[in-house]
Amino acid sequence: QAKAQGRDGIILFNDELAKEVEYRLEIERKLYFALEHNEIELRYQPQFNRDQKIIGCEVLVRWNSPDLGLISPFEFVSISEKTGLIIELGNYIIEEAFKTLQAWEIMGLDLKQFSINISVRQFFHSTFLDEVKRLSDKYLNEDTRKKIIFEVTETILIEDVYRISVIINKLKQLDFSFSMDDFGTGYSSLSALREMPIEELKIDRSFVIHLGERKSDELMITTILSLAKIYDLKTVAEGIETQEQFLFLLENGCDMFQGYYFSKPLSKDHFELFYKESFSKKLSI
Ligand code: C2E
Ligand code: MG
Ligand code: MG
Ligand code: MG
Repeated sequence: QAKAQGRDGIILFNDELAKEVEYRLEIERKLYFALEHNEIELRYQPQFNRDQKIIGCEVLVRWNSPDLGLISPFEFVSISEKTGLIIELGNYIIEEAFKTLQAWEIMGLDLKQFSINISVRQFFHSTFLDEVKRLSDKYLNEDTRKKIIFEVTETILIEDVYRISVIINKLKQLDFSFSMDDFGTGYSSLSALREMPIEELKIDRSFVIHLGERKSDELMITTILSLAKIYDLKTVAEGIETQEQFLFLLENGCDMFQGYYFSKPLSKDHFELFYKESFSKKLSI
């Protein structure tokens, strides 16, 4: 295996790694352009309550690059975290999401909650609070602000809970809520969870996917659900693809459900249609 000392102290072990670095640099360059040229779009994945009624959605970012094709948000969000572009990208996502929620309120599309992912660097950035406040003054009122849930992952626990709580509590004063995304996949301690001023826990797809096959994952999920009860947190399971998975979660007391079994993430227009159709079905019973 070839080993060479690259520039800036980067050690390149082989061609594959070099290609990977090259690809990331290309994404980085093109992402700047993409942000300015409307290549970044939002999708909305419906969330359902225990009666299988739509009660909310999660906002998910999409980048379809004319040159590179569809790139996973796992990839470009993490790259933008490293370069710092996540601040502009994140603000853009918040603004577009707020606009959609405002438009839906005017249309009478009534959701109980509306979740937006916030990355670690964005959360701790000095402008985060001001930017949320500015955009919320521009687009939202008290009723709509109450519906917004910011999803953060356990990786924010690289900082101490006190510092995190200060930020969260400032936004809670403005009626925003918080959810712990991908719970159980990172390194959060029980005491950290107890001290976090959050309202919701999201069960990661990686646990849901093996329901029915892996006893340990079932145990993980039932443990998370009872933990949520103890701390009085609402629960959402993501990545539900089968009826069996849904029923297991339902029987074990999960509050809300999200996954391809119900719906994929939808464009704004498709979400509106999906919402209306789900209501006409309800009415015709
Ligand atoms: P996440 O926040 O945990 O989002 C859930 C992911 O699971 C989404 O992937 C969603 O499309 C996918 N998913 C939901 N139900 C199913 C299912 O039944 N089957 C399968 N196979 N997948 C399902 P997506 O949209 O590719 O996003 C991946 C991750 O990228 C997100 O994980 C989140 O960490 C990040 N991300 C996405 N949008 C944003 C954003 O606007 N801002 C930030 N900071 N991160 C984002
Ligand atoms: Mg999420
Ligand atoms: Mg999640
Ligand atoms: Mg996840």
